[in-house]
Amino acid sequence: MTNIICSQQRVEECVIKEEPYYVPVGNEVEIFRAAYENKLPVSLKGPTGCGKTRFIEYMAYHLGRPLITISCHEDLTANDLIGRFLIKGEGTEWNDGPLTAALKSGAICYLDEFVEARMDTRVVIHPLTDDRRIMPIEKMGIVLQAPPEFMLTISYNPGYQSVLKDLKQSTRQRFVSIDFDYPPAELETDIVAHESGVDEETARTLVDIGHRIRNFKQHGLEEGVSTRLLIYAGMLISSGIEPREACRVAMVKPITDDSDLQKSIDEIISAIM
Ligand code: ADP
Repeated sequence: MTNIICSQQRVEECVIKEEPYYVPVGNEVEIFRAAYENKLPVSLKGPTGCGKTRFIEYMAYHLGRPLITISCHEDLTANDLIGRFLIKGEGTEWNDGPLTAALKSGAICYLDEFVEARMDTRVVIHPLTDDRRIMPIEKMGIVLQAPPEFMLTISYNPGYQSVLKDLKQSTRQRFVSIDFDYPPAELETDIVAHESGVDEETARTLVDIGHRIRNFKQHGLEEGVSTRLLIYAGMLISSGIEPREACRVAMVKPITDDSDLQKSIDEIISAIM
């Protein structure tokens, strides 16, 4: 799915019109709904490509709220989130940042990969995550109050954390936290078949290979192969790419540059596919 960084005028475009395909894995739907009803912010923790973004899209659709997604990175400033004055003609004009736009429109704001944001950017959300639910805009000398429909959500991958990129307790203890992981084999097979168009048997084989690759984590692999990559392999197979080659380019090469590891994983694929 695309990342949407939208200005207030484009909030309507952030309304999700069709129900996203999402297979619930545990009680995440109920927990998210209860958090929304209680105006609590939520963090989604889990490895990349395991369904966090799809889940948020699904929840935004069912809660009937626009979804404003912001991809966090180290150059993202507080002003990028809140907004800034831009020169227009002779004077200046205020432009809402995506966080302000989300707040004003009562959207769900999703800060993806939040640990990638700098410390000074992260603290901007603090007053929004306690029971005041406010956001000061110093440049305009105003304080905005979040409407009841507004919800703040973040995602991050605990696997990538370093001391520098760890979330401080003062930030993490502001969120209800939902853990995500790769879906169990049966569900992941359905998801891979649905999303890539391969038949169930092929999907099952891809998931089987995925599980074996994930076991390589104990042997130096930084992160297991994501559900997203299993789907990519399935898509290539659906488009006529030879299955082993599809697995190699979608499931082996993206996850490691270590040629020994690649070779070992290749052998597993050749034995199964
Ligand atoms: P991330 O955790 O990085 O946000 P995504 O939500 O983008 O990952 O998931 C990657 C892809 O995996 C999605 O586009 C979707 O096709 C699929 N997927 C993962 N989990 C599920 C699920 N529970 N239900 C439906 N699709 C899923």
